[in-house]
Amino acid sequence: MKISHIEHIGIAVNSIEEALPFYENVLGFECYKTEEVADQKVKTAFLKVGDTKLELLEPTSPDSTVAKFLETRGPGFHHMAYAVEDGVANALAECGEKSIRTIDAAPRAGADGMNIAFLHPKATQSILTELCEKKK
Ligand code: ZN
Repeated sequence: MKISHIEHIGIAVNSIEEALPFYENVLGFECYKTEEVADQKVKTAFLKVGDTKLELLEPTSPDSTVAKFLETRGPGFHHMAYAVEDGVANALAECGEKSIRTIDAAPRAGADGMNIAFLHPKATQSILTELCEKKK
């Protein structure tokens, strides 16, 4: 697959409201958007960091995968998201050919205008990996 850049870094937080002042007032990043992703049961906040961005993830339900992550591992680094130039569907097909386990069988709608798919951490050296492309 052809990856152009790190699209964003996902960070799990218990509360976006509590986490944002550090990122905005100490690190000086601008939160340009918050968005709820209903099917992932998370609220997200996006901050620009040069050419990439941070995605803060707060669970909106106790059965959200991010809620489970916070329970077992606590807040912190959650996933790496890469922008693929030749499409998420093509990248997933390549994963299939290379026997790389994925969480998503097909691209789905993610936050911030992206089509996304996750690869399984068991197949990615334990880093939850998201592939993204801008929705057309
Ligand atoms: Zn993400």
